[in-house]
Amino acid sequence: MSRLILILGDQLSHTISSLEGADTALDTILLCEVMAEATYVGHHKKKIAFIFSAMRHFAFELRDAGYRVRYTRIDDECNAGSFTGEIARAIAELSPSGICVTQAGEWRVKSELEALAAAFDLPVDIRPDRRFLATHEEFQRWAEGRKSLTMEYFYREMRRKTRLLMQGDEPVGGRWNFDAENRNPAKPDLLRPRHPVFEPDEVTREVIDTVARMFPNNFGTLKNFGFAVTHKEAERVLASFIDDFLPNFGATQDAMLQDDPFLNHSLLSFYINCGLLDALEVCQRVERAYLDGGAPLNAAEGFIRQIIGWREYMRGIYWFAGPDYVDSNFFGNDRPLPGFYWSGKTHMNCMATVITETIEHAYAHHIQRLMITGNFALLAGIDPKAVHQWYLEVYADAYEWVELPNVIGMSQFADGGFLGTKPYAASGNYINRMSDYCGACRYDPKERLGEKACPFNALYWDFLARNRDRLKSNHRLAQPYATWARMSEDIRHDLRAKAAAFLRRLD
Ligand code: FAD
Ligand code: SF4
Repeated sequence: MSRLILILGDQLSHTISSLEGADTALDTILLCEVMAEATYVGHHKKKIAFIFSAMRHFAFELRDAGYRVRYTRIDDECNAGSFTGEIARAIAELSPSGICVTQAGEWRVKSELEALAAAFDLPVDIRPDRRFLATHEEFQRWAEGRKSLTMEYFYREMRRKTRLLMQGDEPVGGRWNFDAENRNPAKPDLLRPRHPVFEPDEVTREVIDTVARMFPNNFGTLKNFGFAVTHKEAERVLASFIDDFLPNFGATQDAMLQDDPFLNHSLLSFYINCGLLDALEVCQRVERAYLDGGAPLNAAEGFIRQIIGWREYMRGIYWFAGPDYVDSNFFGNDRPLPGFYWSGKTHMNCMATVITETIEHAYAHHIQRLMITGNFALLAGIDPKAVHQWYLEVYADAYEWVELPNVIGMSQFADGGFLGTKPYAASGNYINRMSDYCGACRYDPKERLGEKACPFNALYWDFLARNRDRLKSNHRLAQPYATWARMSEDIRHDLRAKAAAFLRRLD
């Protein structure tokens, strides 16, 4: 009984369920770099290089552990271009008795895996992905029948389930959530430690050359590639985060600084999402740091909430909402994505900074994604599907299960409040408070109507005004709508005219 065990590019874990009970003498592990996956959107060059390099290193580790591995490179002239095509080639050569695979993270690949049994007339064992805390069924049970799917309540369930930061049935510190202490702006700090960077080895250099050759027109740069590509290296990123950045993680979580793209963020999403690190183990290490006095509670709780709360919740929403969630468009927005999302060439310094950093690093931290590029797209009425595709392309941690609910639900409110309670819309005032971007900008965040007025200001009021019918009953927006109502007729008119002129130029 020899089986073919397919391991996907985001399943690079030695404890992945498809490997459970694998027979090193009989079974063959299949890993393949395929065009279908590399091109379903035009991924950032560094994202492709990172994933392929991590896959190749994982294949070496499996071989060292005694497994038989069949590996197809993207530039292999026989490469069939899709998982199904590569499985067909492997079956023709190896005649396995069955196929085993861990369930896919996305609707698109799920359908492909479910079609294998019929295509090859072989038993296909699709196993649950045990790297997540809640199964699809558990999330569905939690979500069904609820009036609103508030993340906070789901998070508390996950705290109880994992026992992380719990004292009996109560949360450590007497509160579930210390977010109110995590909203400080940050100051430039030349003494802040540097996040680890890894010199590409021969394997990575070869991948980088291949990506440069085969994907020359994709977004982003391959220069200064410094990602971890093995479990060992990813472990070093985690250790460095816990020692050097975790203590200040909470306090500066929402801050943005011009010359500091990473601040105290962990840069762990790349590694957790593709399997180089285990989400629960990461959280347990952070809890241990808190218990040993190495990090304050607001930092440890804030970090753990991002993973067992937000990350798990987003995955739950993705599967619960169904494959049509991608078509959500509550506001009916249809403006195309402006060209500067690809080049970073705009006079709005906040946008230019975040997009330029995205081009360089295939990374932006959460508040940059939510309150700069996401906020602008929401205010400007960009087609949410175009926004979703952009995020899926440009970030090296982007897989649809986590990116889509973050974009469609959290950032663009395109699901009309299925996921969030209010749109994350903000004027220049918020950006000025949480960053140092405005000081170096040609616009003035305090001006609403003058020549130097920050575009976010008129756009913010225009967004509220044009969507009044859809949003006026949202009690969380009562205050801004009351402020709008108090403005004189003339000011309201001028703000809307200013926004209209800006949007005309954008088009
Ligand atoms: P940290 O700030 O150090 O946070 C720690 C960890 O918490 C992250 O590594 C991540 O695993 C988890 N996390 C934090 N917030 C979220 C969240 N909202 N959803 C899921 N996990 C979270 N995250 C992705 O992993 N892939 C994406 O494609 C992605 N797209 C996003 C798009 C938008 C519009 C927004 C607003 C957020 C998106 N996020 C995405 C969530 C979040 O921005 C990233 O997880 C985070 O910036 C990764 O950087 P980090 O590892 O330094 O995170
Ligand atoms: Fe961005 Fe406005 Fe500040 Fe310029 S002034 S950086 S456009 S928020």
